Amino acid sequence: MKVPLLDLKGQYQKIKSDVLRITEDIYESQHFILGPHVESLEKQIAAYCHTGFAVGVSSGTDALLISLMALGIGPGDRVITTPYTFFATAGSIARVGAIPVFADIDPDTYTISPANIASVINIMNRAEKERLKAILPVHLYGQCADMDPILEIAASFRLHVIEDAAQAIGAEYKGRRAGEMGDLGCFSFFPSKNLGAFGDGGMTTTREESLYRSLIMLRNHGAHPKYYHNLIGGNFRLDALQAAIVAIKLQYLDAWTRSRQDHAATYARLFSQASLLNRIHLPVERENRHIYNQYVIRVPADDRDALRVFLQDSEIGTEVYYPVPLHLQKCFASLHHKPSDFPEAEAAAMQTLALPVYPELELEQQEYVVKRIKDFYRHR
Ligand SMILES: *Cc1c(COP(=O)(O)O)cnc(C)c1O
Repeated sequence: MKVPLLDLKGQYQKIKSDVLRITEDIYESQHFILGPHVESLEKQIAAYCHTGFAVGVSSGTDALLISLMALGIGPGDRVITTPYTFFATAGSIARVGAIPVFADIDPDTYTISPANIASVINIMNRAEKERLKAILPVHLYGQCADMDPILEIAASFRLHVIEDAAQAIGAEYKGRRAGEMGDLGCFSFFPSKNLGAFGDGGMTTTREESLYRSLIMLRNHGAHPKYYHNLIGGNFRLDALQAAIVAIKLQYLDAWTRSRQDHAATYARLFSQASLLNRIHLPVERENRHIYNQYVIRVPADDRDALRVFLQDSEIGTEVYYPVPLHLQKCFASLHHKPSDFPEAEAAAMQTLALPVYPELELEQQEYVVKRIKDFYRHR
């Protein structure tokens, strides 16, 4: 039995007629960038995320970049973030000339630990504290970071908060949606995300009108009106085609999320029935609406790569998010980090494995995944 990590073909069949109709409309209109489809999606995402404002941008990466730019974060400034995330989180901080300051993760949820944020700030000298501008937590795998203490720390040091919600549209923390808690929320419509376009796309959300106005300008080279540049922005515009396709998919998002949550519950039941809970750790949910953009298990480091190969040979797709924590990436050598600086991130990088969890996954496929993991552990 084949169980790919992700199979978007089934999803496409469901929305195909709507997609073909809307794309034909756009081809006929020959209006490809921004415009009514983008504006309509912005309103829908702002409503879905409870933020009031949303600005369509060219990718999740650009959502992060434009957020940092809108807050005026630049050369020499410091931004606290997690070392265990997709590269774009810290890459965007560095691209505006600021310095990513890492704080280690909580080993249960893999999201940035508020206690570690506090200790990172504590050991900063005065000059460093003065340049500290923001905290950038990541709602990893579809589960929100522990936002209340993060927002408290931010308030006491007058820091901005940018939520990297690229994996977490629809996730909730104590009843609040991903993107509505910080100053800005960043979303990605990369095709493999839980709400994916047919190419690159993203969205930045905010509850503040002044930030919204900056975002609108920055996405179009800082111009307002056309050819009068108040700010140095970039081309961060969203395509009409991508917006229209995302808007079609948004109607299904809650149903797809329920399927993902059901699959997570099914895995938990199957792993328990297979008596595997002494071998593998399941994802931990904390006062959250976890939307399971990824379903990530944890196994001893000695087993992880062998298990991955074993499952590959059984035609089961898996992924390692992320094999190298960001503080150990070559491009950040100038930050002078070394192995053991962030032990929880490093342990997660060696021990975690993502299993298939996409909405269309069948029960028999999940049973097969768990059976093969059981088979793997028979020989260990
Ligand atoms: C996918 C992702 C991004 C970047 O989004 P793109 O649309 O691929 O640019 C940023 N942060 C995290 C945590 C992501 O998973």
